[in-house]
Amino acid sequence: MSTETIFSKIIRKEIPSDMLYQDDLVTAFRDINPQAPVHVLVVPNKLIPTMNDADADDEALLGRMMTVAKKIAADEGIAETGYRLLLNCGPDGHQEVMHIHLHLLGGRDLGRMVGRPG
Ligand code: AMP
Repeated sequence: MSTETIFSKIIRKEIPSDMLYQDDLVTAFRDINPQAPVHVLVVPNKLIPTMNDADADDEALLGRMMTVAKKIAADEGIAETGYRLLLNCGPDGHQEVMHIHLHLLGGRDLGRMVGRPG
């Protein structure tokens, strides 16, 4: 059985967040510890703990996460300057919250794709 995280409470609006978007499939809110001028998390309303738990039935939901991230990038004014979409999985990916989330990062030069350990 999957264990809920703080993201489920944010989705249900039981705790506050800086929410930018919500529909029947996904919710987007600003990261509480932003790593770039724009740092938004796009999460499925349904709890999927890690990318390893996603299956073919989730394809519409996973696609919605991408198109909503694109819309928010435009709304935030970073569509032309560019951005990065990132989804961490497991220990090597340093996933901290076990409810999948797509990071939308932008508003500055983000450097090369993969950092060093630590
Ligand atoms: P990850 O390492 O991919 O699991 O990233 C988890 C992200 O969730 C981090 O960037 C955290 O800053 C962010 N986060 C944790 N709790 C909250 C919260 N209550 N509201 C917004 N973002 C959060």
